[in-house]
Amino acid sequence: MRPFQRRVVKDRYLADLMLIRLARWLRMAGQDVSRPPQEVDDSALIEAALKEERILLTRDRLLARRCEKAGAGCILVRSSKLDEQLLQLKEAGLSLELSPVRCTLCNGILEEVEGSDPCGSSRQEATTAWRCEVCGKIYWRGTHWPRIRERLDGKEF
Ligand SMILES: [Zn+2]
Repeated sequence: MRPFQRRVVKDRYLADLMLIRLARWLRMAGQDVSRPPQEVDDSALIEAALKEERILLTRDRLLARRCEKAGAGCILVRSSKLDEQLLQLKEAGLSLELSPVRCTLCNGILEEVEGSDPCGSSRQEATTAWRCEVCGKIYWRGTHWPRIRERLDGKEF
């Protein structure tokens, strides 16, 4: 039995600064994961989570407890290893399918742009690319995709 039904309203997340790498991987899976702009204290993090209705992702047990008390959503990430972190979140019900919706750098929304293959003109088919609306970074569907997908699937243990 699945622990969660797929939720209608998609949860949004706020990663504390210790979990920026995890945040980038979650964004590859289309998750909305913001981060504080700079070093902020625990109270400010909790406040931001409440105000923006985001679930805080943290490895800090004390912060997680404070978060709970304040009525903010929180997931205490147990492992320091990326693969175990991804597995924990998958078990918590997050969808981790590779999905180009979010910029991995800044969490901005990606828009689809028509593009030709940057690897050369020998290949005729047009490829799809995405551009971040916020920072302008371009994403291509490339040879690295299967590896990213496998890692999100937890196949690299
Ligand atoms: Zn961006």
